[in-house]
Amino acid sequence: MNTPSHSFVCSLCGRPYEMQPAERHLCPACGGSIEPVYDLVGKRDYYRKVLQRGSQNGIWGYRGLLLVTETLVPVSLCEGNTPLMQADNLSKVIGIRHMYLKNETLNPSHTYKDRFATIAVSLARQKGTQTIALGSAGNAAASMAAFAAKGATDCFVLLPSGAVRERAWQIRSYGARLITMEGTINDCIIMAKRGEELFGWENVSTATCFHPWAAEGYKTIGYEIGLQTNFQMPDWIVCPVGGGALLSKIYRGCQDMLTLGLINRIPHFVGVQAEGCMPLVRAYEVNATVAEDWGVPDTIAFAIADVCTFESATVLSILRSTGGTAVAVSDSEILEAMQLTGRMEAVLAEPSSAVTVASVKKLLAGGVISPEDSVACIISGSGIRDLSLMIQGLPDVPKVGLNDVDALRAVVAQYQEGAGK
Ligand SMILES: [Zn+2]
Repeated sequence: MNTPSHSFVCSLCGRPYEMQPAERHLCPACGGSIEPVYDLVGKRDYYRKVLQRGSQNGIWGYRGLLLVTETLVPVSLCEGNTPLMQADNLSKVIGIRHMYLKNETLNPSHTYKDRFATIAVSLARQKGTQTIALGSAGNAAASMAAFAAKGATDCFVLLPSGAVRERAWQIRSYGARLITMEGTINDCIIMAKRGEELFGWENVSTATCFHPWAAEGYKTIGYEIGLQTNFQMPDWIVCPVGGGALLSKIYRGCQDMLTLGLINRIPHFVGVQAEGCMPLVRAYEVNATVAEDWGVPDTIAFAIADVCTFESATVLSILRSTGGTAVAVSDSEILEAMQLTGRMEAVLAEPSSAVTVASVKKLLAGGVISPEDSVACIISGSGIRDLSLMIQGLPDVPKVGLNDVDALRAVVAQYQEGAGK
């Protein structure tokens, strides 16, 4: 039927790429991401209809635009189809006319990684893989563990020993085999890769360069934003950057819509990192074409504290070609944005997602974004596992005695004073 025929090319220099076993699938000539090419023009009408119709089955409604065969049986937990929320309260406080939150926290394991994991586990099952494994800061691992549970596949997780304990609990709750390891996220990913030889694992670490097939799932965020704005894309898409796959694939989704004539321009892309781990931002600022690895990360935005921005060449090119930018925010700005987004919009964003809201404030103040612009922040993961940060700095909870109305009055008055009422 309409399964696309595809070949792989470098997204930057266009050189054809033979997809063979490799340490990392990156262009040997320029470091660009390796991506499949679909015959969009040849089947223009069909693909336009697919994107205009949207999907009732999450990312699987777009399977003709993913790198899977028609016979693949999805291991699905109803991922995707997340809302694009109008953040009216937050917009007023921050001082911008239109702000949207693409709320990826509503995915089954509470992060955008589910769009990757559903494909990775489905493909692993199709191949007859017994055991998958990955290195992760916690989000990708929780996601993969969830889909492995649903797909009845064994899953090993290597987690840096400094990872957030609530994420470790979530991973174990899905029945995955958790191992903590000294070192960074990247060290864990490398060890998961070594496990392929040692134990016959399949490494499903969530960077495009490790799994170009599953990373295609992130494109659907771009398609959904298109549909949700009636293909009137926001002026800016603001995206957290760890390895870089999320940003580059949302951009790819936009590019597909442009090729199909569904949108007439691609938004400016902003890549956001934490000041305590900002290899991409540093490269952007010195006009480099690839990012050098960062030393030791030091930030509460653990999920994007990748010392290596794997897809940096591609991401840097996207930021420049779309008239976007790269920006870093401090931990105190992240904390403030987390708490603000929770109080204003009832969206609990993890630190690595709150960076987007913090950066909009900063870019407005710096005159990069105009108050008249429209902005979509990608809220990539939930802060429900970061509640200790959410309440940081808040006063202690008052307590009153049994039936002590006077004490209750005093406490209520205190709260009202605090709220400026
Ligand atoms: Zn290349």
